[in-house]
Amino acid sequence: MDLGFLLHAIIPSVDSAAILITFLTYLAIAGSILPGKVVPGAVLQDGTRLHYRCNGLFALTLLVALLGFGAYMNFISATVTSALYVAGCRSRNKSSSLKPHVTGNLIHDWWFGIQLNPQFMAIDLKFFFVRAGMMGWLLINLSVLAKSIQDGTLCRSMILYQLFCAAYILDYFIYEEYMTSTWDIIAERLGFMLVFGDLVWIPFTFSIQGWWLLHNQVELPTATVIANCIIFLIGYMVFRGANKQKHVFKKNPKIHIWGKPPKVIGGKLLASGYWGMARHCNYLGDLLLALSFSLPCGTSSLVPYFYPIYLVILLIWRERRDEARCAAKYREIWVEYCRLVPWRILPYFY
Ligand code: NDP
Repeated sequence: MDLGFLLHAIIPSVDSAAILITFLTYLAIAGSILPGKVVPGAVLQDGTRLHYRCNGLFALTLLVALLGFGAYMNFISATVTSALYVAGCRSRNKSSSLKPHVTGNLIHDWWFGIQLNPQFMAIDLKFFFVRAGMMGWLLINLSVLAKSIQDGTLCRSMILYQLFCAAYILDYFIYEEYMTSTWDIIAERLGFMLVFGDLVWIPFTFSIQGWWLLHNQVELPTATVIANCIIFLIGYMVFRGANKQKHVFKKNPKIHIWGKPPKVIGGKLLASGYWGMARHCNYLGDLLLALSFSLPCGTSSLVPYFYPIYLVILLIWRERRDEARCAAKYREIWVEYCRLVPWRILPYFY
């Protein structure tokens, strides 16, 4: 392989670095100053709580308005996570969110991170990076859309893919406050895995279907379009419904679920609604959504199915890790919950 070509491909150009820095700077400033609901996060082990300013939808709308179509991001260098690693190891902070978790295994600590909620200039980096990833995904999709309009190749499959993803991303920002009770925020430390996942993996691999459709024309019959929309809607209903039920339950454990008082185990775990059907129905909804993003590409290639295939692997792995965490945290209450709700993700199957 031509080494010069390889180096050219992996070393960011001045332009791309400037775009990335501008984008991140914009997010830092917009996240700090634009108005938005300030939501208290989960109670940490030491009883403290972080606060999140949920103004992502505003920041995104403003960014899209400012940039128009076609802002590209470039590969994030590992120096970000190395800085996190070094700063985390040096931290003397004893609070749950900043206390260093050092196992001594350099690769493990660098990959999984040292601190739970590292901050830079009062910006919560975890919240910040995931926001950057979701916005980057939409910006890449919009530029793909612009290219297909420019080339005169816009077709039903591209429109469906674009609509579904845009709805999913906008929904993320409309319900951004629900993120504050998710596994990533409350349990995952910030290391290479999350930074790379947020800044590179989400925008660049979740948009593969769009890239693929630019080069491959797929004609979808009306019946297929309708079936695809139904899968998207069911996926959305389950995904949003389950996440919302858990979120509102955490705020008020007496709140009615599907019109009835909730079934609660040990005063802490919800066993009604979606959470009474499977222990991670929200993952099922997300998987159906992922499938609906790829189905517009037809079945001639596996390439556009990268995202749903990856998500099946990720969510099964994550569900196992979350179960282990919950089993340790809730002990006999969790055993009782598993007895009452035996299905992990897909009722009567898994
Ligand atoms: P969850 O939102 O399911 O959060 C898991 C936590 O919820 C548990 O650790 C526990 O935390 C609490 N919990 C679990 N069961 C119950 C219950 N029955 N009653 C009350 N609380 C409960 O997990 P994630 O953060 O992984 O996922 C959030 C969403 O994000 C999902 O819809 C997922 O599909 C999506 N996602 C998407 C990804 C993608 O790449 N597209 C990647 C990862 C996630 P506690 O200790 O607070 O009780």
